[in-house]
This record gives sequence, structure tokens and C-alpha cells, in this order.
Amino acid sequence: MNLEKYSIGIGDRFGREGVAQLRALEKASSHPRAPVPVWNKSFREHSLLGTTPDDVRVEADLAVREVGWKGAYYVDADHVGIRTVDGFLKASDFFTIDVADFIGAPAEEEAVASFVREMAPFVGLLRVPGLEPTYEVTPAALTKIGRHYANAVAEAGRIYRHIAAAKGENAFVVEVSTDEAADPQLPFELFFILGALAHERVPVQTIAPKFSGKFLKGIDYVGDTQQFEREFEADVLVIEHAKRVFGLPASLKVSVHTGSDKFSLYPAMRRALLRHDAGLHLKTAGTTWLEEVIGVALSGGEGLGVAKRIYSRAHARIDELCKPYATVVEIDRALLPAPLVVEGWSAEQFVRRLRHEPSCPDYSVHVRQLMHVAFKIAAEMGAEFRHALDAARETAGRCVTDNLFERHIRPLFVGS
Ligand SMILES: [Zn+2]
Repeated sequence: MNLEKYSIGIGDRFGREGVAQLRALEKASSHPRAPVPVWNKSFREHSLLGTTPDDVRVEADLAVREVGWKGAYYVDADHVGIRTVDGFLKASDFFTIDVADFIGAPAEEEAVASFVREMAPFVGLLRVPGLEPTYEVTPAALTKIGRHYANAVAEAGRIYRHIAAAKGENAFVVEVSTDEAADPQLPFELFFILGALAHERVPVQTIAPKFSGKFLKGIDYVGDTQQFEREFEADVLVIEHAKRVFGLPASLKVSVHTGSDKFSLYPAMRRALLRHDAGLHLKTAGTTWLEEVIGVALSGGEGLGVAKRIYSRAHARIDELCKPYATVVEIDRALLPAPLVVEGWSAEQFVRRLRHEPSCPDYSVHVRQLMHVAFKIAAEMGAEFRHALDAARETAGRCVTDNLFERHIRPLFVGS
């Protein structure tokens, strides 16, 4: 199963916007860089919501039928490990094998020695075509990389073989993710990680490294965009080189787990894709849910009240809601409006705080992040939220489609 050159991961917390999401992809479908959809949902999300991977499969299949989507599409078991993968085996045909926790774990000396032996032909000056800096590869440097990454690569192999035993070797797409590691991976480390994955016979098609800077949930990048561009471009070139050198799948490409809405990085990513004719998997997350809240707030009637109740309950339970996202949410509580203040807002005032319009003076990264993690409150509301969403069907669907197409697909893949 070969993943297309351009793909976009579209999370959907409540599994109700598959059609609206697909309409956004359809709008781009005649473009040469049109992405294919990958519905992704992690074990963490499923456990917070009480949903199952099979629900995502049903959503994707139904949406594809309803829209008449003719292209490829996938269902991603997002960030799985050996303990969580089994529940995804039936529904998924794309597996994001997360080995971040195994990075830096002390590796067996024998595994390190075997890695160093395997990579010994690269001792000397490593040149990556197109990349200015070169890298002095010494046995000591290889030992260091081996110690740091051998365990993670071995774990990826173990999980891959477990999935392949259940589904068959070529029946699914493999992504390996290290984006939730403590430190960014340097491009040359990425080269050797890919070499080790090839040696472990993991047919990796997308790799999600950790970049420098902050990738907070649902808001823009916090960091040096020029440094990001250098890193991203180096990773793209390293991947192209590693593909040829190690015989990895021709479809191998970089995957960027953005946590959504890294608008200020899209120009840099687009430049690198065009310059090197490289592929990309962009994994967005959670903003479909925020568009649902926006749609509910704008729909009139009970909607605005429901949206405000979600905010005020989230405000009261902020610690609990942020806990699973501790490293990727940064809210300044002093800048969160009190629920009593929000109570007095019109739908327009509410939406202006929430909607990701960087140029809008009312837009609040704090309100947006709080609402981002507040999906658990909506899940607990049950019928109350579902009815509000039903009543807001058309508005919410339009918000979801427009957001995905105008803010993500158009700037990054299509070009404005
Ligand atoms: Zn990730």
C-alpha cells in the first residue's frame, strides 16, 4: 500500500464532520498537489471520548460514499504503541508507531554495536545532496546515536511486525513518530534513524520528527520560523537521500504533526516542497471540534448558550482538562475572561475570541486553547451538545469545510 505524495491528517473528535472535511479536500481535488485524507485519532482521544477506532472507520467509509470521493483515503491509528495497537488492527490501514518514549532509554550494548557496524560505511564526511553543511561521522558519533536511538528503532520494528502479523505485510502504511520526544532530532540523526529502520526492515512511508520551537494545540507556531525552515528543508533532503541509500519505500516523506494551525510555517513548508518536489503528510488535530463550537455559537437559538456553558465548565475544570496535554498547551489564566463576562457576549463576540484569525484584535490564544481541550465537556454533555450540533448542522459544516480548505489546504498545498 503506497501512500500518495500529499496527504493530510484530519482529526474529528466527535466523528460527525467527515463529509464536511471531505468537501474541503474535494475543492482541491483537481489541483496537482491535492492531498488525500487520513482520518486520525489517537488512543488518548478515544479514551477521553469513549469512542473506538471502528467508529472512525465507519465515519470515513460513510463520508466517502456520501461525497462520492474517488481518491484514496486512510484511517490512522495515531500514536500507538505495543500496548494500545491491538484495538486499531481491524479499523486502521495507517499506523503511526510512536517510539518517542524509547528514545534515550539505555540500549543493549550488542544492539548499539550492531548499529555501529551497520553504519560503518558512512564513517567519514557525510554529504547530503542539496544540503550545504556536511557532517563528520566518527565511530564515536555513531555509538552516541546508537545509544540514543537503538531502543526506539527496535521498538518500532517490534510494533511493525506485530501489525504485519495481523494484517499482512503490504496492507498498511507505516508512519514512525518521534515528535513527542523531549528534544528535536537533528537532520543527521534522522538520516541514521532511517538507516536503522531500514535495517530493522520497517517499510516506513512517513516519519514525524520533532522540530525546534513550540507546537501548541490549535494555535500558531511559537519559535523562530527561519530556523524551522532550515530544519524542515534539511529533513526533506535527508529523507530523499536516505530513501536512495537505504532502499526505503519511494513514497517515504516527512510528516509534520502540527497540533494544527501552524499558519506561519506553511509558507516555509510550501517553499521547500516546491523547491525539492518533495511529498508531505500534514497532521492537523482538533480544530474541527473548534469549528463545531463556532458553528453552534453562530447558529442562533440555544446554540450560543451551549457554547458558553462549555466555556464556563472548562474554566472551572482547567487543571483536569489540560493535564493530558501538559506539554502542548500554554494558557495564561489571567488572560481568560471570567465566565460571567462571557455570559454577556453576543455570538459574534464569542466567535471573535475563538476563531483563529491572527489579524483579529479580539482573537485570544488562551480562550482558543482552553476550548481546544474542552471537547471532553461537550462529550459529557451528551444529548445537549449533540442536539445543538444537529441544529447547527449547516453552519458548523460550512465552518469545518472553509477552515480546512481556506486556512490549511489552500495556503500549503494549492497556493493562493
Ligand atoms: Zn504527534
